[in-house]
Amino acid sequence: MLTRPTPWRTADTAYQAHHGACPQCRAAGLNPGGPSRCAVGAGLWADYQAAGTPPHFLWLQHKQEATA
Ligand SMILES: [Zn+2]
Repeated sequence: MLTRPTPWRTADTAYQAHHGACPQCRAAGLNPGGPSRCAVGAGLWADYQAAGTPPHFLWLQHKQEATA
């Protein structure tokens, strides 16, 4: 079976659900370079980052296609 990145929507939903309930991850999100996300949040954030461009960011996809 091929390993593929988590679909963006799934990664977003999972991270947002955790983020909403985790003060440590909210603090990390508000202060880049400040406090670190908790272990669970860091994993979810890595999945989110790996999931790529949000599918509704059409302007960014067009820009990326133009420079590819
Ligand atoms: Zn967290």
